[in-house]
Amino acid sequence: IEGQDQVTRIVVLPGDGIGPEVTNEAISCLEMLSDHFELGLRFEEHPFGGAGIDAHGDPLPETTLHACRNSDAVFLGAVGGPKWDKAEKRPEVGLLGLRSALGLFANLRPSRVIPGLESFSPLKASIATGADVLVVRELTGGLYFGERTQSDDFASDLCTYSRVEVERIAHVAFQEARRRGSKVTSVDKANVLATSKLWRRIVEEVAAGYPDVTLDHMYVDAAAMALVSAPGRFDVILTENLFGDILSDQLSVIGGSIGLLGSASRGADGPMMFEPIHGSAPDIAGLDIANPAGAIASAAMLLEIGLGLHEHAAMLNNALEQVLLDGARTADLGGDSTCSSFGAQVREKLQERL
Ligand code: ATP
Ligand code: MG
Repeated sequence: IEGQDQVTRIVVLPGDGIGPEVTNEAISCLEMLSDHFELGLRFEEHPFGGAGIDAHGDPLPETTLHACRNSDAVFLGAVGGPKWDKAEKRPEVGLLGLRSALGLFANLRPSRVIPGLESFSPLKASIATGADVLVVRELTGGLYFGERTQSDDFASDLCTYSRVEVERIAHVAFQEARRRGSKVTSVDKANVLATSKLWRRIVEEVAAGYPDVTLDHMYVDAAAMALVSAPGRFDVILTENLFGDILSDQLSVIGGSIGLLGSASRGADGPMMFEPIHGSAPDIAGLDIANPAGAIASAAMLLEIGLGLHEHAAMLNNALEQVLLDGARTADLGGDSTCSSFGAQVREKLQERL
C-alpha cells in the first residue's frame, strides 16, 4: 500500500471455541511486529459464526460482512460448536457465506514436518524424503456445488467445471510454485472423469505460461499412496474441490498435530482470508490448552501472501520454529505449555530478533 493510505485494515473474526484463544496469541504477534516496524496494521474485531448468532442472531452479521469486504485481509479463528447445533442458521453457514461473498475460490494449505517435531509425524519412514507440501485446492466448484437430486431410492450429485474455474486456480498454483521455486503436480482422475480430462488439458495450457515451473500429473488414487510413501516427491499439489478436501486432510497429519498448520484462501482480487486448519475444538475450549501454532502460522501467511511482507513473515515463522525447537509443547504434543504461555514465548523470541 503506497501513497496516502498507510493503514492496512485487518478484520479479525475470533469466532468460537478455541478460536478466540488462538487468535489472541496470533494477533498479538502481528501487533508487536506492526508497532515495531510501523507497518500500519489496524485490527478490527467482529462477531462471526456462533458469536455472530449470539450477538446479532446471524452467523454472518451484515456489519461483519461489510467490514470484511472493506478490509485488506481477514483473520479467522474457528467457528462452530454444540451450543449452536439447533440454530436456524448454523455457524458453518456463515463461513460458506463469507467465502462466497469474498469470492475465495482458492484454498492454500501448506503441510510440513517442522524441525524438532519429527518424532510426532506418523510418516517417520518417509521424512527422509523431506515432506513439505502446499495443497492448492479449488474451493467453489465441482461436486460440492453441483445440482443435487435425492429421492428414497436414488440420488445424484453433479460434478461440473468450466474453463475459467480451472484456469484461475491453475494460475494460483503456478504462482505459488514460482514463489516456492519448484514444481506443480496436478491431481485428477482423467482416466475416468470428463471434468478431469478438461482439467488436465487446461492445466497444460496454463503451464505454457510458466516455463520455469515443472508440471506433472497424477491420478488421485496414486497420489494418495505417494503422499504417504514419498511425500518428498511433491511441492505444490493442484487439485479440484473434492480431491483437495480429502488430500489436504490426509496431509494435515504430516506434522503430528492439527494444531500446527495454517491456511489461506484467496479470490481473484479483494481481501484474502487466513485461518488455522483446525476447528473450534469445543472439547478443550476455554481451558487455555489449545495449540496456537497454527494460528500463528496463519498470521505469518497473512504477512507473506496477504501483504507481501516477506521479511516480517520470516521473522514470525523463525520465532515460532525456534520456540518449538527449544522444546515448548502444548498438550496436543504431550507437553504442558498453555496457549497463552506458548504465544508469549513466541513473542519473546520475536522481541529478541527486532
Ligand atoms: P470442524 O468441523 O470445525 O473442522 P472438527 O470437529 O473437525 O471441527 P476440530 O475442532 O479441529 O475438529 O477438533 C478435532 C480434535 O483436535 C479435537 O479433539 C480437538 O480438541 C483437537 N484440536 C483441534 N485444534 C487444536 C489445537 N489448536 N490444539 C490442540 N488440539 C486441537
Ligand atoms: Mg474438521
